Amino acid sequence: MNADSYFSSRLLDWYDVHGRKSLPWHHDKDPYKIWVSEIMLQQTQVVTVIPYFENFIDRFPTINELANALEDDVLHHWSGLGYYARARNLHKAAQVIRDRYEGRFPQNFDDVIALPGIGKSTAGAILAFSFGQRHAILDGNVKRVLTRYLAIEGYPGKKAVENRLWEVADGLTPDNRSSEYTQAIMDLGATVCSRSRPLCDLCPFHRDCLARKNHRQTEFPYRKPKTDRLMKAVRMLVIKNDLGEVLVVKRPPSGIWGGLWSLPEIADPTLDIAPWCEKNLGVRVEERKKLPHFRHVFSHFDLKIDPVVCVRIGECDQIGDHPLLKWCHPDRPVALGFPGAIKKIFGTLSVQFGNEE
Ligand code: SF4
Repeated sequence: MNADSYFSSRLLDWYDVHGRKSLPWHHDKDPYKIWVSEIMLQQTQVVTVIPYFENFIDRFPTINELANALEDDVLHHWSGLGYYARARNLHKAAQVIRDRYEGRFPQNFDDVIALPGIGKSTAGAILAFSFGQRHAILDGNVKRVLTRYLAIEGYPGKKAVENRLWEVADGLTPDNRSSEYTQAIMDLGATVCSRSRPLCDLCPFHRDCLARKNHRQTEFPYRKPKTDRLMKAVRMLVIKNDLGEVLVVKRPPSGIWGGLWSLPEIADPTLDIAPWCEKNLGVRVEERKKLPHFRHVFSHFDLKIDPVVCVRIGECDQIGDHPLLKWCHPDRPVALGFPGAIKKIFGTLSVQFGNEE
């Protein structure tokens, strides 16, 4: 047995006994459900994903139903999962599949990676789990197992290290039982070879793993070289009307929180709120109170958010049927997508103003 087949056969023996085989997206081999689960799992842990996955599939049971939905509805069902570009891309890709492939998920690798939001590893995983095709994958779990097993030095975000990892991943993927192997290596990374406390005594490679032999498990994979994190600050305006509703604005379709509903914000600390609101929102306001500021962490920067409560003065405003502005009650659920930071502010409002109405 060569080194590559030794790795896969040991891993498959471990999988037969310990692998995860009953997650909600394992029940059938529907490529749509596997695709949704793979996208949700990209930045999020399984326990968090399960209820979101179930709600999402309940609401959009087929690719065509997702394709035909309003973007607000899709974002609403993603609300709280973060990394909203994933939801927007799912929606766009569903429309491509509806229009180009009659609503059937494509089976050709090049067609799959051409869809919005699907990279090489995700395409490989979907095709392996749905159609049993042999493809190497290289998600975060797989990178962790491979860099530790072979003590691969260097940050995997560097092209040369990534290329080496793809070569290794491809070489180790067997021709037989390749989809189970793919699930097995993901499971090992998720349940045994975890980031900070790998359970090496339970690992099928505890005798061979180079990182373990040298007590260097947590050094792999190398972390991203440190750069100073960028810090931005913004005032978010909680403008209330006399019905207790808050003015929300729809964000541009791309970029941070793209397509979600948020609060009006002023980045320039020198601007006065009242004239800014009259000019930009068509609403006359009076500033009332500052809420405690908090920090929201994005992948590339931190945002310091200063919520400022204002009240609308005068009877009228120009909101009307404006497509990008709405009055919405923070205590009553509405079918719009809000980022977690905005939900947090709404939660604070319930506490601060709970007895007011
Ligand atoms: S022996 Fe430990 S570090 Fe090495 S692959 Fe197994 S769990 Fe990971």
